[in-house]
Amino acid sequence: MAPHPAKTARIAVVGAGEFGISTTYHLLESGYTDITLYDRVQPPVPDGSSVDISRIVRADYDDEVYAKMVVESLELWKTQFKDFYHPCGLLCMTPAGNPKYLEDALRNVEALGLPVTKFASGPEASKYLKLTHTDAMSGLAGYLSHDAGWAYAAKATEHLFNLCTGLGAKFIAKEIKSLVYGDDKSTVTGLSFTDGSNAAVDFVIVSAGAWTDSLVDTSSRTLATGQPVGYIQLTEEEYEKTKHLPIYINFVSGFYVFPPHPESRLVKAARHSYGYTNLQLAEDGRYSSKPPTVDYSQGELPPQRTALPKDADECLRIGLYEYLGPEIAKRAYTRARICWYNDTPTKDFLFDYKPGVSNLFVATGGSGHGFKFLPVIGKYAVGCLEHTLSSDLLTKFGWRQQVDKKEDASRGGTPLMSLDDAELA
Ligand SMILES: Cc1cc2nc3c(=O)[nH]c(=O)nc-3n(C[C@H](O)[C@H](O)[C@H](O)COP(=O)(O)OP(=O)(O)OC[C@H]3O[C@@H](n4cnc5c(N)ncnc54)[C@H](O)[C@@H]3O)c2cc1C
Repeated sequence: MAPHPAKTARIAVVGAGEFGISTTYHLLESGYTDITLYDRVQPPVPDGSSVDISRIVRADYDDEVYAKMVVESLELWKTQFKDFYHPCGLLCMTPAGNPKYLEDALRNVEALGLPVTKFASGPEASKYLKLTHTDAMSGLAGYLSHDAGWAYAAKATEHLFNLCTGLGAKFIAKEIKSLVYGDDKSTVTGLSFTDGSNAAVDFVIVSAGAWTDSLVDTSSRTLATGQPVGYIQLTEEEYEKTKHLPIYINFVSGFYVFPPHPESRLVKAARHSYGYTNLQLAEDGRYSSKPPTVDYSQGELPPQRTALPKDADECLRIGLYEYLGPEIAKRAYTRARICWYNDTPTKDFLFDYKPGVSNLFVATGGSGHGFKFLPVIGKYAVGCLEHTLSSDLLTKFGWRQQVDKKEDASRGGTPLMSLDDAELA
């Protein structure tokens, strides 16, 4: 078992997204004194995952470990993070007769005592929610999870980042080219940056989200997958008619949509799916999936899209029709985005030392469901770093010997494909 760092060790946290920032916060709370966060630009990072106008906060999991962790996190969303949390509820539906994922999720939320209203049919749900168009959600069934909601991700991330710097963490805006290893490769001695400079370190935590595998070879324990998101502008009248709605997710198609955002009146629709890969050559000569490169040092910005690959667009249009009716469903996207998950084969987070390297810890594997844990995720990462979590959790979040894939039943849509193929289809 690798020894954890001394409280005064020079700790470098690579990647200032949710995982890096929350880990930094909980390290500071645990008495570590010399922490430097690195990222390409100051968070919230525009092409990172911990941004955007909304992320779902739901305890509706088929896995009771995560369902319980959400209850813990939700307490903090409703108190310390209340300025960034919108408790609008979550409508979970699937085609009637195909309760994929939902039966288990419902059992878990009911066991936790969270309030739900069940619907035997789409029209029943539609009547309850006062949807106006006629055949809304026909053929579907499910339930409304009242305690769920959404978090204003970019702002919550920025807030926790500011708390970290207020508590003494340093931030340096630089891109890491590679980790520098000692001669026998059993320790990391420093970081090498793309601007040609270097920094010496005692301990490194890599929390680089979808870029992690290109910095630390995770040997198929993580895979970056792109996921489609589209934003549609509502009129003021449409906003007034729809602002009371809960988030809606269809666990078979993978489609989900948020109520219009109170600042911009944008409706955000997306798909929680198997996604797209983007294989690129890594520093060490391997091919690794990672998001397309944006060189902030050259003043570049993430590409602005207004269209999505065909398979994704079709899914979003059907879902928007089901929930918000034909008018909104056929409207052009104001903007669109491919946003990157860092998937693990079991969709469990990965908080562990890289085998064979005593001072290199990896904190990643958000797998498309990590953001809701922003207030608490770093506590679990630190618990793994210090080996203080229960052995069950250390195993769950650990670097597994075998990479056995477990189907993530919360996903839907088309199978995994390359981004290039999806764009050309
Ligand atoms: C479309 C989409 C929808 C999602 N919806 C939800 C949801 O509804 N609910 C939910 O709970 N979760 C959701 N998630 C998942 C959640 O957003 C992620 O699990 C979480 O944000 C991951 O955080 P992270 O810190 O691992 O990654 P990131 O936020 O991407 O942070 C990684 C950081 O590392 C930096 N970095 C990478 N390489 C380098 C380098 N070489 N040098 C310096 N810095 C580097 C990047 O710039 C980036 O800022 C969603 C994710 C996506 C993409």
